[in-house]
Amino acid sequence: MAKITLDNLAHSYLPNPTGEDDYALKELNHDWLDGEAYALLGSSGCGKSTLLNIISGLLHPSQGRILFNDRDVTMAPTTQRNIAQVFQFPVVYDTMTVRDNLAFPLRNRGSDPAYIRDRVQQIAHMIGMEETLDRKARGLTADAKQKISLGRGMVREDVNALLFDEPLTVIDPHMKWELRTQLKSLHHEFGHTMIYVTHDQTEALTFADKVVVMYDGRVVQMGTPQELFETPEHTFVGYFIGSPGMNVMDAQVSGDKAVVGGTEISLGKAFGTPAGKVELGVRPEFISLSAGEAGLPVTIKRVEDVGRHKIVRADLQGTEINVIVEEGENISPDMNRIVFDTAGVNVYADSWRVAPKVA
Ligand code: ADP
Ligand code: MG
Repeated sequence: MAKITLDNLAHSYLPNPTGEDDYALKELNHDWLDGEAYALLGSSGCGKSTLLNIISGLLHPSQGRILFNDRDVTMAPTTQRNIAQVFQFPVVYDTMTVRDNLAFPLRNRGSDPAYIRDRVQQIAHMIGMEETLDRKARGLTADAKQKISLGRGMVREDVNALLFDEPLTVIDPHMKWELRTQLKSLHHEFGHTMIYVTHDQTEALTFADKVVVMYDGRVVQMGTPQELFETPEHTFVGYFIGSPGMNVMDAQVSGDKAVVGGTEISLGKAFGTPAGKVELGVRPEFISLSAGEAGLPVTIKRVEDVGRHKIVRADLQGTEINVIVEEGENISPDMNRIVFDTAGVNVYADSWRVAPKVA
């Protein structure tokens, strides 16, 4: 098991990159702590697989270094890195039995046959394939083959890290939950450093202790689910995480006041006078509707009942604002203002969060 350090790392698939836009992975300095479970979250094309493949050694970065426990492995081949990687689509040996597929990484390392037998049995149990151990992999469903790939990824106990690249894509929904639970318990049992790539926030938030959010080739925030919810460091994190995501609106900010669409509101904290494109970010959970005089004027467009609560879709001078209203709370026709709970208001300048001034 290892701490993994990314030092000045960047990658371009082009032979002669010129500007930042040419980089699939923009310059990155980051430590993955030994024994932590991380989710790497971001939309398609943001560079998740590129980063994972650099860590495992399938790809050599065009710039920077990778260290395992402070040892430089940048140019080391995959075999020397001692990493297990599971991909989005199954990689199995069709002519081998399920048992031999699972045993493969252990036999490769010359493990003791009795140990292999027990460990394979244990893994087969985890992936629910004890009954099919002696069947050939050929002819099994994509779902079953992917479970074998997962099992093979988990079979070795002595790896530096386990990397999963959207491994549950082809798995049916009810098995997804089951397998994710297995991965978590595997993490508790062996304490491997794990990086789990997904574009699904629910998967990320339920799997990991720390979520690393990527956007456009960059890590924009690493934090606990609570940190990502309360203090999104980038507007992308705000609206990518949450359901619905954070509301973002143009504003002018000066000290502890903001002006939104001509109306002044209090922020509760001072922010100086941020330069650049200034926006407020407020999650729907921190907004309430009001029939009073205070707050920002809105028009309610729709109310959606989603069971646990209602989502109110309102219009603030052309910007859609979502408000979460608790079940049982009344929404009356004269509610034409929104009021922010200042504890949940973040200020952004050019998409990055501005820290409030300490009084
Ligand atoms: P993700 O896994 O987050 O969907 P990727 O790491 O696969 O993203 O891709 C990041 C960017 O790099 C994308 O713009 C993608 O088109 C590009 N890319 C990925 N693989 C290659 C490749 N082998 N050659 C050239 N460009 C690539
Ligand atoms: Mg990918």
